[in-house]
Amino acid sequence: MNPVSPEVSRAASAGAPERRALVAKLKAAGFLKDPRVAAAIEEIPRHLFVPYALSGEAYGDHALPIGFGQTITQTANVARSVELAGVREGSRVLEIGTGSGYEAAVLSRVAHRVYTLERVPELAAEAVKVLTLLGIRNVSVKVFDGSYGWSEHAPYDAIVVAAAAPEVPEPLLAQLGPTGRLVVPVGDRDKQRLLVVKKLPSGRTRTEDAGDVAYVPLVGKFGWTKNATR
Ligand code: SAH
Repeated sequence: MNPVSPEVSRAASAGAPERRALVAKLKAAGFLKDPRVAAAIEEIPRHLFVPYALSGEAYGDHALPIGFGQTITQTANVARSVELAGVREGSRVLEIGTGSGYEAAVLSRVAHRVYTLERVPELAAEAVKVLTLLGIRNVSVKVFDGSYGWSEHAPYDAIVVAAAAPEVPEPLLAQLGPTGRLVVPVGDRDKQRLLVVKKLPSGRTRTEDAGDVAYVPLVGKFGWTKNATR
């Protein structure tokens, strides 16, 4: 991360004690076993990714509204998905559901390259603004139905879906590289199981269930067809 001005640098370093406390709380709850993910959460100024009026609440471990009926992912869920996806220093990662850009910013610190898709143009534009402000250069954002994936840059070492689908979207499986992992909440609209689909060297897949979660719906061809909020 390479902030572009002293003002941005000041804004980005604000909240450091709150971030340390949040990381300590998440560790005590059994999250953040990977020190690189812990360092990323301690570093990324989450308060810059939420509406200004909510910035005081940015370091509680909960989702917050970001407009258009969407929410910034709860920090514990960001930590959990990034770790379950097995993201490493050299990884090329696809994220579905850029939203505020917060999870993409965390991924940018632990992966080599991040591609992220968002269906709401206004959210994508705002995310690009904050990522640029923070000098994050290894994230590409595109407005597109992410349930199709982003075939141009496939295969990916990891795919993290930040919205819930009725079933595992087929195109995402196809875009996973050998030994790649797909982390996706699957279930009904308001309650899901977080699934980890691992591609085996044989080309087959093995799915593990990482527990209960509640994400906003993935709206698209291989997700839900209608969105109640938009
Ligand atoms: N990772 C984001 C989470 C935002 S919530 C963050 O940290 O802020 C999930 C996002 O997925 C929403 O912004 C929603 O608009 C988006 N989304 C839903 N369906 C989508 C689809 N088919 N393609 C791309 N984005 C989608």
